[in-house]
Amino acid sequence: MTEASATADIVVAGAGHNSLLAACYLAKAGYRCLVLDARHIPGGGAATEELLLPGFGIDTCATGHTMIRVNPALMADELGLIAGYGLTYAEPDPVEQVAFPDGEQFTMWLDRERTIEEVARFSRADADAYRRLLDEYDQVKAIFSRWQFTPAGFGPLLEEMLAEHPRGRIWARRRQLSAVEVVKHEFTSRHIQAFLLWMAFQVFQPVDVPGSGVLPYQQTFGRQQRSWSIPIGGSGRLTAALTGYLEDHGSAILCDRRVTRLLLEDGRCVGVQTQDGEQYRASVAVVSTIHAKHLRDMAPASAWPEEFHYGIDTYDVGVPGFATYYCTTAPPVFASAAGPRSAVSAGLAGWPEDFIGMGADLRAGRFITDPPWVLVATPTLADPGRAPAGQHTVKILTPQIYELPTGTWDTVKEGHARHLLEKLRRHAPNLTDETILGHLTKSPADIEQLNPHMIHGAFHGGNRGPAFSGPLRPAPGWASHRMPIPGLYQTGGSTHPGGSITGAPGRNAAIVLLTDLGHDPAKVMSAPASSAIGGEPRA
Ligand SMILES: Cc1cc2nc3c(=O)[nH]c(=O)nc-3n(C[C@H](O)[C@H](O)[C@H](O)COP(=O)(O)OP(=O)(O)OC[C@H]3O[C@@H](n4cnc5c(N)ncnc54)[C@H](O)[C@@H]3O)c2cc1C
Repeated sequence: MTEASATADIVVAGAGHNSLLAACYLAKAGYRCLVLDARHIPGGGAATEELLLPGFGIDTCATGHTMIRVNPALMADELGLIAGYGLTYAEPDPVEQVAFPDGEQFTMWLDRERTIEEVARFSRADADAYRRLLDEYDQVKAIFSRWQFTPAGFGPLLEEMLAEHPRGRIWARRRQLSAVEVVKHEFTSRHIQAFLLWMAFQVFQPVDVPGSGVLPYQQTFGRQQRSWSIPIGGSGRLTAALTGYLEDHGSAILCDRRVTRLLLEDGRCVGVQTQDGEQYRASVAVVSTIHAKHLRDMAPASAWPEEFHYGIDTYDVGVPGFATYYCTTAPPVFASAAGPRSAVSAGLAGWPEDFIGMGADLRAGRFITDPPWVLVATPTLADPGRAPAGQHTVKILTPQIYELPTGTWDTVKEGHARHLLEKLRRHAPNLTDETILGHLTKSPADIEQLNPHMIHGAFHGGNRGPAFSGPLRPAPGWASHRMPIPGLYQTGGSTHPGGSITGAPGRNAAIVLLTDLGHDPAKVMSAPASSAIGGEPRA
């Protein structure tokens, strides 16, 4: 398809991994998709770029892909992304290296028994509790997975499925508790509590609020199964596999196209307009991964019902992030009591009360100087091809507020990045200035500027608490990817089940759209990857 042909069966606004995945299934069913993205490259948070120095492939956003690996798209390789498009994953071991404020450190290994032995170093009772945590989640994982990979309204509610489970009452309470309450109930050692809260915070959901109680189970179980899985070659390899599939199936991706307006005719969405005034028309449907709050502004206010406005107005965009990227001549080497340790996923964890304090600071809009959650990602440890021989990419990630009480991000961000680096050096002293070849700091405002879907620099799709989950995401009444304007569908992190690299909102949106178009989604999805179910892509 060339740029001149500005029509398609389905126009997709935004090329994040979710909307690309949705487009792949639609292409598999025979529809010609045209995907538009504001950036010069597709992928959104699944991108790898030479951000700093030549030869250093840095993950612009996401590095860990553990959660998408249980998506049927990859589990059953429904699109042949693994068999035909070169997508492969490494499962780094150790899984985690985490340092505590008192200098103690914890190593999580891919071998479950070895991790349990590590927990026993802190508490024998907690070693049993850790084993219990894994076993208990194992019993219900199919329920949570079914809920995650089913569009809202297309299957039973999570509470209904849990109610039928023999231990459903325990999970009913656990779901309403905070992660802090759950962890303190199950574990006695402050170090193990801190480690599990650090694990629970991975999707930037505050761990001191009701509704976060399942996160320590989910995050820890996933990592214990598949580590912090990383795609060989970087996050951009997932995007390359998806765009490769689309191009081979009669669809196209156009970059540098910022969508600014929805085209409406007789109350129906028939396409989009981009910043340069170009119009792209869809004969079948429009799929959007533009943030729901921005999407709403792209049509007259009268096009949306009052309840939708209320749902979008009150949608909480979630916790912003602050990122610093480094090119280095060495990985951070943690000086643990057991000897030097490095891990692709490492970090610094505060005490449980520090996590509670951070939750309060985030809600009050106070600057987070010493976050109890610092992630230090060094993917080159398991995927050395991303950097020149022996060299590394290191990313330091922390939660932060968006609006500074005083000053501007441009005057504040470098000092804060330096402060975080010095904190890390207390545990990984080898990461001296001499090892650093270059660095780049991104404030929440920078992250938002790069990708407006990450509104306020919050990049996990928005708050995942009970008010914003399942049938309430992004707005009560419009959780099944069908927007109030006929012909318009929404996917991405602001839809069920939320952000991160899961592909779940993308596959779920495809299920809804395929259903509405008269297909059997299961048939389309399970058909051989190379086939175009609806026949040859339509001209
Ligand atoms: C620094 C950082 C580290 C992260 N680390 C991880 C991690 O390790 N693991 C993990 O699971 N997640 C991580 N995340 C979060 C993850 O990247 C996102 O949750 C995920 O990318 C969301 O995917 P998506 O498909 O919903 O949308 P996005 O990836 O946000 O893609 C949306 C796309 O829409 C485009 N777009 C937006 N508005 C318009 C418009 N008006 N017109 C045209 N195009 C538009 C954007 O350019 C973008 O390409 C990280 C994020 C950041 C920023």
